[in-house]
Amino acid sequence: MTIKTQYDCLKCPAYCCSYEHIPVTGGDIKRLAKHFDLPADEAKKKFTKKGDEENPRVLRHKADEHFGTICRFIDTETRGCTVYEARPEICRDFPNRKRCGYYEFLLHERETQEDEEWVSTTGNYGR
Ligand code: SF4
Ligand code: SF4
Repeated sequence: MTIKTQYDCLKCPAYCCSYEHIPVTGGDIKRLAKHFDLPADEAKKKFTKKGDEENPRVLRHKADEHFGTICRFIDTETRGCTVYEARPEICRDFPNRKRCGYYEFLLHERETQEDEEWVSTTGNYGR
């Protein structure tokens, strides 16, 4: 059964892709390696870095005008994922429910501020 979601990622600047620690598993690294036709150890080094105790391996970031830094795989112009078919499991599952808290915050602020383009740059919402 498909659950109808109440958020629209196409209207969002990809806030969830700016989380500092976006965890990757061994399977995620293998999928990315296959996608780029690279050996898994090379993909691991190129696309991921050491995280913390909870998330030992995470996606690397790059600079971003909205959030400071963001996942290296985002297209910073279109705000879309450039490895959509090969993205990690966590990206497929998020937000794992019908609603996305950030999207609701975004809609509320855009309405309140009467600015359809408004994007939070505080970098601390929902973390
Ligand atoms: S923060 Fe929410 S609405 Fe925005 S891209 Fe992520 S899941 Fe979609
Ligand atoms: S892999 Fe794609 S969906 Fe996942 S955080 Fe990076 S840009 Fe976002």
